[in-house]
Amino acid sequence: MFNIAIDGPAGAGKSTIAKIVAKELGFIYVDTGAMYRTLALACYRENIKPEEEEKVVEKCNSVEVTLGYEDGIQKVYLNGKDVSTKIRQEVIGNMTSSIAVYPPVRKILVAIQQDLAKKNNVVMDGRDIGTAVLPDADLKIYLTASTRTRAERRYKELIEKGVDCNIDEIEKDIKDRDYRDMNRQVSPLVQAEDAVLIDSSDMDINQVVEKIKSLVKK
Ligand code: C5P
Repeated sequence: MFNIAIDGPAGAGKSTIAKIVAKELGFIYVDTGAMYRTLALACYRENIKPEEEEKVVEKCNSVEVTLGYEDGIQKVYLNGKDVSTKIRQEVIGNMTSSIAVYPPVRKILVAIQQDLAKKNNVVMDGRDIGTAVLPDADLKIYLTASTRTRAERRYKELIEKGVDCNIDEIEKDIKDRDYRDMNRQVSPLVQAEDAVLIDSSDMDINQVVEKIKSLVKK
């Protein structure tokens, strides 16, 4: 199997890029952030606070997260129900990085991710793919961009969806999320030694896709 790992901070464009690369190569796309978000949604629905570690772990162990593909697009299911849209709320995104710090929570999802990569050619994106989930991936990319650029992209996305928002608040949320992801004890976000660094601040989507495809060919 050929496995491509794409890691990087929130809003760097990982999922947009990974989806296109997967489609063009005929690989399956695995959005691991969506899996963590699904567990956060399960806790949120039960009013479990992220700091209630025992309750979070118990809840995560009692639900089932599965992935499916419709027209090549990844769908994520919580106990069989499609939650692909619900997990995109800002409140869930921010809560997710707080529950993703617990090792038993990560263990549940890493097992599913490794199994998918064993059986399929994948483009998998997340925070710890090149370092912890697929340390032997055939190609590792660390995709980043400046905080301001990432906040601007997110702002544009939300405005287009008709969501009222403030760019400075978005930038603050992004910084807080980066801090939690980069400073946690287990599997923090860090560039793998053998990952290729791509800074997309001054690149458009197509340029990043072409760069990754040229690395695959090599
Ligand atoms: O990529 P996305 O923004 O959807 O991820 C949401 C959160 O899930 C991240 O901020 C991070 O805390 C967590 N995550 C993780 N490990 C991954 C993917 C996501 O800890 N492989």
